[in-house]
Amino acid sequence: MARDPKVIQKEVIDKFAQDLPQLYTVIVQHSDLSTITWAPLLHRFPWDIIFGNVSKGNITVAGGAMHPMTPDLGQNECAALEDAVVLGQQFGELIAQRSRLVPLEVAHALTQYAQKRRWRAAGLLPHICQGGCN
Ligand SMILES: Cc1cc2nc3c(=O)[nH]c(=O)nc-3n(C[C@H](O)[C@H](O)[C@H](O)COP(=O)(O)OP(=O)(O)OC[C@H]3O[C@@H](n4cnc5c(N)ncnc54)[C@H](O)[C@@H]3O)c2cc1C
Repeated sequence: MARDPKVIQKEVIDKFAQDLPQLYTVIVQHSDLSTITWAPLLHRFPWDIIFGNVSKGNITVAGGAMHPMTPDLGQNECAALEDAVVLGQQFGELIAQRSRLVPLEVAHALTQYAQKRRWRAAGLLPHICQGGCN
């Protein structure tokens, strides 16, 4: 797909707007070109979230980086907020116990965060495979 916003705008109107209300086309036509970008939709399979590396040492991922899913689910931002809450709980407990962050304990806290989040996030995804996964 071209990166030119004008081409993206035309593509959207020509190919994706036919079955939508006229208002949709009007909005796209009047969109500020500097705000138009194109990116592929991504998702991660549930088993990749459950068994994959989402945390290593003092590094972890959250939100769309941990559990990308297609927007039709309407769940990923909610799941990202949940990630933030669980991360906050993990760090909050550490700070409450020690009044400071110790690297080894941070790694442990992140492992626990990943364990809690991977099952929840994977559980949001199974319907993706109803049509058959390759
Ligand atoms: C069309 C659409 C509709 C959606 N509807 C819903 C909905 O109804 N309900 C819902 O819960 N979720 C919905 N979502 C999903 C939601 O938008 C995402 O889950 C959410 O934005 C993820 O937040 P995030 O902070 O994890 O990642 P993002 O919002 O993707 O933020 C990541 C940021 O990192 C930046 N970045 C990327 N790479 C680099 C780099 N190398 N260096 C520096 N910066 C970088 C990006 O530019 C971006 O600003 C929808 C998504 C789409 C696309």
